[in-house]
Amino acid sequence: MTKIRMTTPLVELDGDEMTRILWQNIKEILILPYVDLKTEYYDLGLPERERTGDNVTSDAAYAIKKYGVGVKCATITPNAQRVEEYKLSKMWKSPNGTVRSILDGTVFRAPVLVDGIKPLVSNWTKPITIARHAYGDVYAGVEAYVPEGGKVYMELPSGEKKLIKEMPSAGVIQGIHNLDASIAGFARSCFNYALSTKQNLWFATKDTISKIYDHRFKDIFAEIYASEYASEFEKAGIEYFYTLIDDAVARVMRSKGGFIWACKNYDGDVMSDMLATAFGSLAMMTSVLVSPDGKYEYEAAHGTVTRHYYKHLKGEETSTNSVATIFAWTGALAKRGELDGNEELVDFAHKLEKATTDTIESGIMTKDLVGLFNKEGVTPRGVNSVDFLKAIAERL
Ligand code: NAP
Ligand code: MG
Repeated sequence: MTKIRMTTPLVELDGDEMTRILWQNIKEILILPYVDLKTEYYDLGLPERERTGDNVTSDAAYAIKKYGVGVKCATITPNAQRVEEYKLSKMWKSPNGTVRSILDGTVFRAPVLVDGIKPLVSNWTKPITIARHAYGDVYAGVEAYVPEGGKVYMELPSGEKKLIKEMPSAGVIQGIHNLDASIAGFARSCFNYALSTKQNLWFATKDTISKIYDHRFKDIFAEIYASEYASEFEKAGIEYFYTLIDDAVARVMRSKGGFIWACKNYDGDVMSDMLATAFGSLAMMTSVLVSPDGKYEYEAAHGTVTRHYYKHLKGEETSTNSVATIFAWTGALAKRGELDGNEELVDFAHKLEKATTDTIESGIMTKDLVGLFNKEGVTPRGVNSVDFLKAIAERL
C-alpha cells in the first residue's frame, strides 16, 4: 500500500506519562502504516523542558506560528510534588499557558459523540463546542476586605475618581479589567473557528446589567463581525448570534447542539465543566487552541492520566482511553490537509475518526466507557489500551 504523502510538516509536541505512551502507540498503530508522516518534533516531556530551561516549549509555539498547525500530547504542569519527583531546578510554567500566550489563542472544547453514550441532556444530538476567553475579568481581579466600611473609589488614568460605594459597614470590594485587544483577539479566534468548522457562533454576556464592561464585549464582537466576517459567514451559510447570557443558557438546554458557544472567562470556566459532565467523559473531550490569525494547536482536554502511568510502570495492564488524543491527531491532520489542498490526508483523518467511533459503537472500548455505554443489542467489552487501538486499525 502506498502511504499518503504530506507536503508541510505538522508541529508535533510530545508530552508526559500515560499520554506519552499512548502517543507513541497511536502513531505506530494508527498513523505511520498509512501516512508518510512529516512532523517537526518537539519533546515537551518534563525532563526535556528541564534540560532546555523550558525553551523547547516556546520553540514549539513559534513553530506552530510558522507552520500553522500543531498537535500536542498532554503534559505535566509542575507543582511542588513534581519538582521533587523530577528533581526540577524550577517550577516550570504550564506549557499550555506558554503556548497560549505566544499564539494569543482561544481554546475550543468539543466532545466526541458516539451512539451508545447518551448525553445527560437527551436533546443534545450534536456536540456543543465551548470557547472560553482566557484573559482578565475576575481571574486578574484585585480584591480587598474593608473592615470598617467607608468610601471606596476607582481612580482612572484621567484623574477622575468614581465612587464605587460609600460602605456603611464592613464588606468586600473587587476591581477587574479587560483589554480591547484581548477581546478583539478572542472575537477573531471565534469567528475563524466558526468558519473553519462551518458552525453557528453564539456569544452572550450580561450587558443589560453591565452597561459599559460587558457591553464593550458585545460591541467589539459586533464591529469585527460586521467589518471582517459578515460576508464570509453568509457565504458559508452560518450565523453569528448574540444574546443575553440568561437567554443563552436556556436556549443551550433546549438546543440540539451543533454550534460554538463563546463565553467570557468566568462563564466559560463554569459552563465547560457542566458541558463536559453532561456529555459523559473527560476522556472523550477534544480541545483546540485557535489564534486570532488562524493558527491551530490540537490536543486532548484531559491530563497525563498519572494513576494509569504508575500502573503501567509496575508492568500492569492499563485500559486508558485514547479517543481524545486520536481526535487531536485527526483534527491536526485534517487541518494540515485542508491548508495544503491534500484531500487524501483529509479523507484519512475522517476515516480514522469514523473507525474510532465505529469501534466503540460495536462494543469494543476502554474500561472507563463500559459503565456509560448503553446500546440495544450490543454488550460492551472493556479492552486494554493497545487492543483498543488494534481494534480501530482493523477498521481502517
Ligand atoms: P487527568 O490526567 O485528566 O486524570 C484524572 C482522572 O480522570 C484519571 O485518573 C482517570 O480516572 C480519568 N481520566 C482522564 N483521562 C482519562 C483517559 N484518557 N482514560 C481513562 N481515564 C481518564 O488529570 P490529573 O490527574 O488531575 O492530572 C494529571 C497530570 O496532568 C498533572 O500533572 C497535570 O498537570 C496534567 N494536566 C495536563 C493537561 C494538559 O496538558 N492539557 C490538562 C490537565 C492536567 P481514574 O484514575 O479513575 O481511572
Ligand atoms: Mg472550571
